[in-house]
Amino acid sequence: AAGVTLEHGFASRLPELSVPWNAFRPESPRIVVWNEALAEELGIDAHRFTGNSLVRFLLGNALPEGSEPVAQAYAGHQFGAYSPRLGDGRALLLGEIRDPAGRLRDLHLKGSGRTPFARADGFAALGPMLREYLMGEAMAALGVPTTRALGVVATGRSVPRDGELLEGAVLTRVASSHLRVGSFQFARAQGDAALLARLADYAVERHAPALSGEPDRYAGLLDAVVAAQARLVAHWVLVGFVHGVMNTDNMTISGETIDYGPCAFIDAFDPAAAFSSIDHQRRYAYGNQPSIALWNLTRFAETLLPLLAPDVEAAKAVAVASLDRFGAVYNDAWMEGMRAKLGLAGSAGRAAVDDGALAELTADMLTDLQRHRIDYTSFFRALARAGSGDTTALDDVLPHTKGAGGWVDRWLQAAPDPAAMDQVNPIYIPRNHLVEEALEAASEGGMEPFSHLLSMLERPYTVREGFERFERPAPVGGPAHVTFC
Ligand code: AMP
Ligand code: MG
Ligand code: MG
Repeated sequence: AAGVTLEHGFASRLPELSVPWNAFRPESPRIVVWNEALAEELGIDAHRFTGNSLVRFLLGNALPEGSEPVAQAYAGHQFGAYSPRLGDGRALLLGEIRDPAGRLRDLHLKGSGRTPFARADGFAALGPMLREYLMGEAMAALGVPTTRALGVVATGRSVPRDGELLEGAVLTRVASSHLRVGSFQFARAQGDAALLARLADYAVERHAPALSGEPDRYAGLLDAVVAAQARLVAHWVLVGFVHGVMNTDNMTISGETIDYGPCAFIDAFDPAAAFSSIDHQRRYAYGNQPSIALWNLTRFAETLLPLLAPDVEAAKAVAVASLDRFGAVYNDAWMEGMRAKLGLAGSAGRAAVDDGALAELTADMLTDLQRHRIDYTSFFRALARAGSGDTTALDDVLPHTKGAGGWVDRWLQAAPDPAAMDQVNPIYIPRNHLVEEALEAASEGGMEPFSHLLSMLERPYTVREGFERFERPAPVGGPAHVTFC
């Protein structure tokens, strides 16, 4: 279709890990969002699609040459409890596309109908798919590794949800791969060491190609995944993102964020912040994310044991050594991020505040933010204004920290770079109430609020005059934000 060709490496090399399947064919679909920039990055030219062939491509109804659609099998720990068989219940992998830069990326559908792994109707509603599109774009613009969407198509077929009929939709997703910790859990559970090795070799090719063919490549893969996930979660914490459902089937091997279901951004800084209606224990709260990531990576390491060394004790030692590196990689990434957020990443800033002093400064700062329930995102912009000599900049946000010897004082004395701060501290994030508002309008057919919010999130560091409302948290006194899968 229109010059697009796909590879089917996953389907053909790992047939035990998927089932060939086809997407359903809605009668009157329409494209609701199309990601021109991502299409260009993939070498896909919308102008080469004629008639309704673009919408049929996005739905997996008109398959590009080489596409062999499959539903992928995976297992996973959901809220700590193991399910041996999850898999793509309402999703399909269409194949892999090689972009003009030579990178291989998965093209995948969500909401494309029931598969043999289905646990419900196989469909998706328009609101959640638009939410996933918006979140992916926002995260990409914030520099956070993420899966993204090429488009959202409304199917014209309604789907029942909580006693309501909602418009159905399909999201066409692009990812470095859809290999998950759960994919390895599934492969390991088959008790077939050759299959596990084939999966691991495929993962090495996709995500750590420099290790291909090396004798210690499986230990290297584990190291690479531990490091990629440590950096990813540090990114999340730095931008105030709460994934909400960090089950092992929702954790990628690539280190990209995946499955924007019940996710949310924090407003007030609070390690206990959790928004998901089903996360009763707050297992996936904002501040728990690093330790949950390590827990999930431990499950990943367990799956690799047969590949790490000939005897179990030696294999465990390799795994433990790799997992032990998580903390340092996470801390380095988080500290470097905080250094930049505080305008101390230049040589002067480094000389004035060494890592030990930075750790103290940030600890004092976060204690203040938490105690006074300060809006995390707008705080750093106000702080930059204070750094450029605006002595009243913190009066509204942090009136409690004035005074000699406090962390603000110490920070000012380090001569931070406010211009550099404004390049890394966003003004606009997908605040929950703004996202809800845009999706509400979209469900009534009005795409303007969605497009407007999207355009602001695509340039999160650039001030837009006249849209101050988008900089602020939800008005106080409103209901607490709750997210649903
Ligand atoms: P999730 O919690 O969205 O990561 O999904 C957990 C499992 O439920 C996966 O196997 C999904 O494919 C499956 N699932 C979720 N929603 C649906 C649906 N509407 N229809 C069929 N299967 C679903
Ligand atoms: Mg098969
Ligand atoms: Mg999932």
